[in-house]
Amino acid sequence: MSTESLINLAYIAAAILFVFGIKMLGSADTARRGNMISSIGMLIAVVITLLDQQILSYQYIFIGLIVGATIGAIAAKVVKMTGMPEMVALFNGFGGLASLLVGWGEYNKIKALGWDVYIANGINPYFITTVIFLAVLIGAVTFTGSLFAWGKLSGKVSGRAMVFPGQMVINALVAAAVLGAGSWYVIQYAGVNTPVVFFSMMGLALLLGFLVVMPIGGGDMPVVIALLNSLSGLAAAAAGFVIFNNVLIVAGCLVGCSGLILTIIMCKGMNRTLSNVLFSGFGATAASGDSEVEGEMKGATVEDAYYVLEAARSVVIIPGYGMAVAQAQHAVKELGQILEENGAEVSYAIHPVAGRMPGHMNVLLAEADVPYEQLAEMDDVNPRLPATDVAIVIGANDVVNPAAAKDPASPIYGMPIINAHEAQTVYALKRGKGAGFSGLINKLYFLEKTRMLYGDAKETVSGLVAQFKDS
Ligand code: NDP
Repeated sequence: MSTESLINLAYIAAAILFVFGIKMLGSADTARRGNMISSIGMLIAVVITLLDQQILSYQYIFIGLIVGATIGAIAAKVVKMTGMPEMVALFNGFGGLASLLVGWGEYNKIKALGWDVYIANGINPYFITTVIFLAVLIGAVTFTGSLFAWGKLSGKVSGRAMVFPGQMVINALVAAAVLGAGSWYVIQYAGVNTPVVFFSMMGLALLLGFLVVMPIGGGDMPVVIALLNSLSGLAAAAAGFVIFNNVLIVAGCLVGCSGLILTIIMCKGMNRTLSNVLFSGFGATAASGDSEVEGEMKGATVEDAYYVLEAARSVVIIPGYGMAVAQAQHAVKELGQILEENGAEVSYAIHPVAGRMPGHMNVLLAEADVPYEQLAEMDDVNPRLPATDVAIVIGANDVVNPAAAKDPASPIYGMPIINAHEAQTVYALKRGKGAGFSGLINKLYFLEKTRMLYGDAKETVSGLVAQFKDS
């Protein structure tokens, strides 16, 4: 068997490990093993690539490996669960930058070697310039778009949608200019103006990334992160074509497709179309309909809540971002266990975009060893809520906002929610009167049946646990 066949066989093995690894990530029981299997696939791919690709100097690769591994190890220790979405945004961004650099590197190589070497090897210059263009374009948009998304999620810049008159026209003109410059670069691959055209294309693509993410804000950010993830995969696949690396093409396509599937799932979770998410400027203005909220938020004490919970036969716990901030998951699990021992049927209602990243609540509750079968998806739990004695809303806000179901004037109208407002009694745990991620006031807290338990969620839940233990 030739060396080339052996290399491709190793790449196929790596790709199979990626696919099985991703499949296993779908269940909490197999996720760790899935992660490990995918990592082994990546190790095989990296080692084979280093041996195969006629590396001129291993020195820089080794330095990069040490620096990257050190940063990765520190980030894994230091970054909190609540900071993961920002982290994912940065990962996507640097993935895009890497693809851009591969495209740029090949551009320089062509300048240094000339086209003759390529043509002699049977490589079509139009093909190479096209994939360089795609790697640079998608990589650049992913890089600056992700950096901006990181800034928005981490609060470094305003998380709101930023809109201005004529924004769509400007975005369309910049997009047309990028496509024009890119097409010119492809057609004029041997032309004298190539450097100007190439770097104009790159600069405009970098600008486009900022412009595209600018009008997106509020509750739409998770969709953007998933979409940027998908783009970083497509950029990698394009880079794979640039350097003729099969495993990079396969891995890029896997990331591209899975990111796109996640994007679609999240759009459905919010009842929005992708074009609506990208172009509607949702969240640019403060909440409409806020002024119509009537009544007041009624506070209660932990003791009051204890007496109601003690008598409850069915309890649905609805966690949200506040549970992640408070790191209350272990206390929540303890409360759930105590309620069960007290004879109540307990389940945890999980909204697809609760928290700040896909699966955020699942991860936290799995970390606290909450049995997976107690987690209920929105569609399963909603029909049960009218017959539920108590809904305990723990740091959730947007995902239980009844305006999404009832108020056509609300910006989040149509987004599916967990119908906490249909339970017999609602206890809402939050620190104060803070709004949710989308900036909207939640009418759930003003209902007659709702009582607020103010304070840090971990302290409040621990207080409830203590009440049960002391009684
Ligand atoms: P929200 O962000 O809507 O609300 C969280 C609530 O938690 C706040 O009202 C806050 O109120 C409360 N809170 C914060 N800290 C604490 C604490 N220590 N103890 C108790 N309460 C606390 O959360 P949801 O989970 O309901 O909704 C998620 C939102 O985030 C959606 O709009 C979603 O679209 C968006 N999003 C989701 C992502 C994802 O992938 N899941 C990613 C990015 C955004 P107070 O300040 O009064 O305490």
